[in-house]
Amino acid sequence: MFIETKGLTKAFGGLTAVDNVDVGIEKGKITAIIGPNGAGKSTLFNVISGFYPTTKGTITFNGEDITKKKAFNVAKLGIARTFQTTNLFEQATVMDNVIVGHRLRTKSGVFDALLRTPRLKREERESREKAEEVLAFVGLTKEANRLVSDVSQEAKKRAAFAVALATDPEVVFLDEPAAGVNPDETDGLIDLMHKMVANGLTVCLIEHKMQMIMEIADHIVVLNQGKKIAEGTPEEIQNNETVIQAYLGG
Ligand code: ADP
Ligand code: MG
Repeated sequence: MFIETKGLTKAFGGLTAVDNVDVGIEKGKITAIIGPNGAGKSTLFNVISGFYPTTKGTITFNGEDITKKKAFNVAKLGIARTFQTTNLFEQATVMDNVIVGHRLRTKSGVFDALLRTPRLKREERESREKAEEVLAFVGLTKEANRLVSDVSQEAKKRAAFAVALATDPEVVFLDEPAAGVNPDETDGLIDLMHKMVANGLTVCLIEHKMQMIMEIADHIVVLNQGKKIAEGTPEEIQNNETVIQAYLGG
């Protein structure tokens, strides 16, 4: 497995949000994490991406143990993510948001910034080129110089993808990438995820739009109350009694 969790557990005080979860994410595939509200999906992403420390269990990436790594270092290894609520700077342009994302990967420090070193100038140029490249990839070239606050919800989602892609990841974790986007715009986001995979990326997403999941996921993992209750292909999950009960009950 490309990314694998074993017995992964995250507790907040007395609440076990992620409870002993084994998940495998296969390279070059689309894996979906589904489950009722509060199931622990976002927390699972937060733990894998190093935003929250793990309570118990392990996470490996390409065979390397990354359980104790913090978000910044996980991102550097090639694991990018988007957030359930897009955390873009609304009063900055789409382009500037992506440039900031890219600079996570570059090495200039305060010293370079103060002295305007050649390295800094080179990196700034590279960041801009990278931003142009990923904005073209997500279909936002025309919106590049608009303020985030002025673009559609769907364009914001694409911009969040671009921010993630600017770090040259191998895997992207997308937390509800189509939330708040109207149904006919959802198709464009589906195409974009297929395009990511066609370009060698591995995608893991959380999504509530069941039709979308059934259409794009290669593998589905179902969480309920922190526990993995089922996994399988869309066909298998659609007909799984335990899953149906969890949704009806939850
Ligand atoms: P989902 O994304 O599946 O809707 P979450 O992972 O956001 O669910 O939440 C799972 C459970 O963990 C919920 O009961 C939620 O209230 C709790 N939780 C999530 N994040 C925190 C946190 N930072 N502190 C305390 N409790 C949290
Ligand atoms: Mg969530």
